[in-house]
Amino acid sequence: MIASAPLAERPLLIDGRAVRGAGEPRPSIDPASERAWTVVPDATPAQVDDAVAAARTALNGEWRRALPRERGRLLRRLADLIEADRDRLVAAEIRDNGKTVREVTAQYSLIPEFYRYFAELADKLDGRVFPPERPGILNYTLVEPVGVVGAITPWNSPGLQLAFKAAPALAAGNTLVVKPSEQTPVATLEQAALFAQAGFPSGVVNVVTGAGDVGAALAGHPGIDLVVFTGSDLTGRKVGAAAGSALSASVLELGGKSAQLVFADADLEQAVVGVAAGICSASGQTCIAGSRAYVESSIYPEFSERLAQRIGELRLGAPDDWSTEIGPLAFAAHRDRVEGFCETASAEGAEVLVGGRRPERTGFFFQPTVIAGVTNATTLMREEVFGPVLGLTTFEDEEEAVQLANDSRFALGAGAWTTDLARAHRLTQALDAGTVYVNNYRLASFQTPLAGFKDSGVGFENGQDSLAHFTRRKAVWIDFSGRQKDPAST
Ligand code: ADP
Repeated sequence: MIASAPLAERPLLIDGRAVRGAGEPRPSIDPASERAWTVVPDATPAQVDDAVAAARTALNGEWRRALPRERGRLLRRLADLIEADRDRLVAAEIRDNGKTVREVTAQYSLIPEFYRYFAELADKLDGRVFPPERPGILNYTLVEPVGVVGAITPWNSPGLQLAFKAAPALAAGNTLVVKPSEQTPVATLEQAALFAQAGFPSGVVNVVTGAGDVGAALAGHPGIDLVVFTGSDLTGRKVGAAAGSALSASVLELGGKSAQLVFADADLEQAVVGVAAGICSASGQTCIAGSRAYVESSIYPEFSERLAQRIGELRLGAPDDWSTEIGPLAFAAHRDRVEGFCETASAEGAEVLVGGRRPERTGFFFQPTVIAGVTNATTLMREEVFGPVLGLTTFEDEEEAVQLANDSRFALGAGAWTTDLARAHRLTQALDAGTVYVNNYRLASFQTPLAGFKDSGVGFENGQDSLAHFTRRKAVWIDFSGRQKDPAST
């Protein structure tokens, strides 16, 4: 037998240099083959300090003098490099998290557009001049970068999540320290390597990898001015608290338990396809997954049958095969957790209509699942599963539908399927969620804010207005009247 060569360990990125992680390296497991495919580094708290220091130095170096137009130019160059390197980046992310080639390719087609959109905004960050309250006064605001941004990302879409954070941060002139998920750091390291090629100065983008301890060291670091986090609500609370005690700002994009409402007047075929895609895209591993479906009781028998049939027919397979619709879940412990939710639902009296177990094959696969006979008290309807598992039940009228949808501590997304225009407008106002979809689910754009209300988040990402999180406003008062006011009169 020929021994295979040991896998090479990947480096961290600190101050423009490939640096060996000083922590214990770990093998990265390909979720489709269950085999190690590369070795990823682990940073120590001292290396987090180094990365933050490098980002601070870069903030005050040549990057500070780069004109906004120049920042835009670098971002556009980065977008071109990502586009040219798309297939390699896609392949890395597929091995990182097992998502299908269709989904990951679509995301990597979007990523350059995020950078280009924010590139165009880099030179439009203008302040205001306030009308004078007395003669001889000029009062205005300077819009400045907030400083060093700590970006902590999850494993489900590491490439896109990096773009969500890096594009506005860099357009506004900040520097970054990124901490990707320990499950999927490779896609981030690969994308980050392109920043230097695009011409960003050393230290503007740094990457430290490792688990929650590395994330915690970054979130609570006194050298960080803003923490931008995407992940679970449990971790988000810790990140927000750590940032708060360091008196840093934070933007938190957290979990969801989003509802889909299907009314009797809906185009049923559209609704079946949309509800199935809403829960099964990315094997349900998206914060916005439409994981609770409520169906008007008069159409429930037909809808539930058609939905179960469609979901049962989805093609499970190798994630790099273009015909695959459902890839594996990202890692073994996560698959076990998803399975646990199905077992708990059955123990609580719910009924599995389709799926509900792991198929007999290599890889961390889980069958797409529909579970009926649930109420809003069932654990499945309250907790985020982050897998392809839909809870399905009925409502009698619009009022009850809204009440059931809003009865959650989460408020990320909500979907409504109806052909009644007036109803659609009533629902967009009544549904308590950061994004409301009507007759579609999961549309998204770089120009549209993505916000979580309630326990789903603090602040928002994407869109022009998100640049407010990444900038600070400095007030300037200039007195050219030549007359100082008597202090007693102020
Ligand atoms: P998941 O995405 O698995 O639901 P998390 O919300 O825990 O899980 O993870 C999101 C990101 O937060 C990951 O990069 C993870 O390493 C990081 N993380 C985990 N725990 C902490 C923590 N206490 N402080 C900061 N970051 C953390």
